[in-house]
Amino acid sequence: MLLNISILGPQASGKGTQARILKKRFNFFYVEMGALLREIAKENSPLGKRVNKIVNQEGILVSDDVIELVLEKKLSGVKSDQGIIFDGFPRISSQIKNLNKILSKLGRKFDLVVFIDLPDELVYERISGRRICSKCGLIYNIANLSDSDKEKCQSCGGKLIIRKDDQEEKIERRLRIFKKETLPVINLYREKKMLREVDGTGSIEEVAKEIEGIIKSKS
Ligand code: AMP
Repeated sequence: MLLNISILGPQASGKGTQARILKKRFNFFYVEMGALLREIAKENSPLGKRVNKIVNQEGILVSDDVIELVLEKKLSGVKSDQGIIFDGFPRISSQIKNLNKILSKLGRKFDLVVFIDLPDELVYERISGRRICSKCGLIYNIANLSDSDKEKCQSCGGKLIIRKDDQEEKIERRLRIFKKETLPVINLYREKKMLREVDGTGSIEEVAKEIEGIIKSKS
């Protein structure tokens, strides 16, 4: 499986959940841009402080030079027999250049964008119940958890927390940025016939099945 693909969609569309399923199913090398940045934001360095302010407090996009740095470092770990799945990248037109440059350095080309679409009202509904494991980053929704499971990650035992950028006033800004910056990226790939669109309102299993079908048809 040597496809190099990207999963894009609005907040809480299920990108991260689906990317993790695909990673297991097809042995993809997984590049979760938001999680990589949240890790950097914890560092007590000038870069860590800068990223923390942007990601956790402002909810806006990190500059392309930082993204390029993070990507180069992460992709140094990819094995030659693995395809790559990018989650939340490229998120703005200027990052398409970065993506193509870095893949060509690795002797690869970009194959496909899977766009998981979700209406705004469901974005708000899902984000209000979203919890994330503070240790391994696994994503949950409290609507699917019994009272006794709402505190701890069922995979690693880490504490479940609300993401700092999931507060209501920040969601609106993030969704606005998605529409202004990321929808043009999606439209561009649609024009190039490199886009497959998936309805994100289905269950995790339904969406996963549809995306698996897309991947199989490409490989
Ligand atoms: P996510 O976990 O995908 O919702 O991303 C969380 C946050 O990380 C975003 O709101 C941005 O601040 C930052 N981020 C993630 N991906 C990118 C990207 N490709 N370019 C710039 N900033 C990003």
